[in-house]
Amino acid sequence: MNDIASAAVKPGNHEDEQIILTSVDDFLNWGRENSLWYLLFATACCGIELMQTGGPRYDWDRLGMIPRPTPRQADLMVIAGTITHKMASRVKTLYEQMAEPRWVISMGSCANAGGPFSKFSYSVLNGVDKYIPVDIYVPGCPPRPEALIDGVQALKERIHKYKTFGTRETEPVTIQ
Ligand code: SF4
Repeated sequence: MNDIASAAVKPGNHEDEQIILTSVDDFLNWGRENSLWYLLFATACCGIELMQTGGPRYDWDRLGMIPRPTPRQADLMVIAGTITHKMASRVKTLYEQMAEPRWVISMGSCANAGGPFSKFSYSVLNGVDKYIPVDIYVPGCPPRPEALIDGVQALKERIHKYKTFGTRETEPVTIQ
């Protein structure tokens, strides 16, 4: 038994005893914000930038970002790429298969508002928020990995304030 452990169990020795008081929400949110499992899913070129963010140079695994291949195990959906009208209902189905509390980052101009296709394309949806609620918008075509990481940091701030029995913050945040 090391010194700290033996001191902690010694009766009457209060100097080395440590007690942490917190709320259930704070404790759960600490876990949620530091182990964000995101759905492994992308629909266009922003997806390449998403993969780059997970690669060795940016390595966002160190922020607790772990890809999951099924929505049932994911907390976060990153919309990385163009969403067509045909695809939108599938995206909504995937979102609905995720357990609460769930979060959405809209990555790039296409997911945010249709991007370069918004004006003349008949098939592209002008913003994924027409189908699912978005927490964080990350602008750019494509956004750089730094911007996506900024988006995740902003999302962590939101998760930090999440209350299981309270009103959820729904006002979307746009990364500058
Ligand atoms: S925002 Fe740009 S990079 Fe991203 S999916 Fe659209 S066209 Fe591709």
